[in-house]
Amino acid sequence: MNKIKYFDHAATTAVKEEVLKEMLPYFSLNYGNASSLYSIGRISRRAVENSRAQVARLINAKQNEIYFTSCGSESDNLGIKGIAYKYKEKGNHIITSKIEHPAVLNTCKALEQEGFEVSYLNVNKDGVVSLGELERAVKETTILISIMFANNEIGTIEPIEQIGRIAKEHNILFHTDAVQAVGNIKIDVNKMGIDALSMSGHKFYAPKGVGALYVREGIDIKKIQDGGHQERDKRAGTENVAGIVGIGKAADIAFKNFDKYNQKLISLRDYLIEQMEIIFPNAKLNGHRTNRLPGNCNFSFPNMDAEELLFKLDEKGICASAGSACSTGNSATSHVLTAIGLTPDLANGALRITFGDENTKEDVDYLINSLTEII
Ligand SMILES: *Cc1c(COP(=O)(O)O)cnc(C)c1O
Repeated sequence: MNKIKYFDHAATTAVKEEVLKEMLPYFSLNYGNASSLYSIGRISRRAVENSRAQVARLINAKQNEIYFTSCGSESDNLGIKGIAYKYKEKGNHIITSKIEHPAVLNTCKALEQEGFEVSYLNVNKDGVVSLGELERAVKETTILISIMFANNEIGTIEPIEQIGRIAKEHNILFHTDAVQAVGNIKIDVNKMGIDALSMSGHKFYAPKGVGALYVREGIDIKKIQDGGHQERDKRAGTENVAGIVGIGKAADIAFKNFDKYNQKLISLRDYLIEQMEIIFPNAKLNGHRTNRLPGNCNFSFPNMDAEELLFKLDEKGICASAGSACSTGNSATSHVLTAIGLTPDLANGALRITFGDENTKEDVDYLINSLTEII
């Protein structure tokens, strides 16, 4: 069998060599606790703060607005619950969408159990939330809007800047799950009016087990993990110094190579879409045609079981996804594909291809040829 062809970068990415190289000393040589005052502790502290500056720069935030966490899911929990608990005297209403990642949806469901009220906005057939519906959902008691930057299944990018403006007009805080967007889309938290933003290292070439939450200066959040006073007393636990160094380096690489990387993914994506439409005129492209993540393609094949397709692709060394990795093992139809109005037949025939740095045009040709043989 050939070398693996990996087209599932929305599920996770490989740690970049430069990222790993930067991390290695912090496992054994510079192993100090970042809270310790002697020299190897201070080395760790400096590394953590350097990484904080690198992560901040990628989204045009300030260094002191970044909190390190263990993953994107934790960032979503800390951002949403942290704001909900802190501002509950002001109101108990939260607005989100029906196509959020489970890390947001289930956090909102948990808050409903505790007496918060949550509105789940619909999306149109392209997966875009309606600004009119958002406006109509706002109440006196609304304290938080949480809408994802870009969807992990269908790649649709939401109108973040407009949502930020609406939130501001109504004096409501705005959190966005930007786990799929960071590194792939230019983000400016100030220009876009974002008050809190979640990211995850392993979605942009840093390791699994490290994430970050941005919270605008002046906004307080309630800590949800109690213990020591790390992360300016918002997230207890000895810092994962090596992981933090990794996400910082990955952010630095993403910042410095943004245009080149972005163009590369867009050209692979558009080439695949173009070829698919010629070869499989019955296949339906899910998500917004142009306003989508640079590396995301999602096609539905009528009368086709995507899981079966995945097994056959796997036999050819191809890694892809049906729906999202978070729902594998549970055969329920994707809530995202349902929300954009797909019939169960089309939803069950959805194949997600997500490109990354190591992919080439030849890889795409191999994928197309393999799909042609199988289908
Ligand atoms: C992957 C993902 C998450 C979860 O991040 P983890 O680091 O795996 O916990 C949250 N939201 C979106 C949109 C994602 O794609």
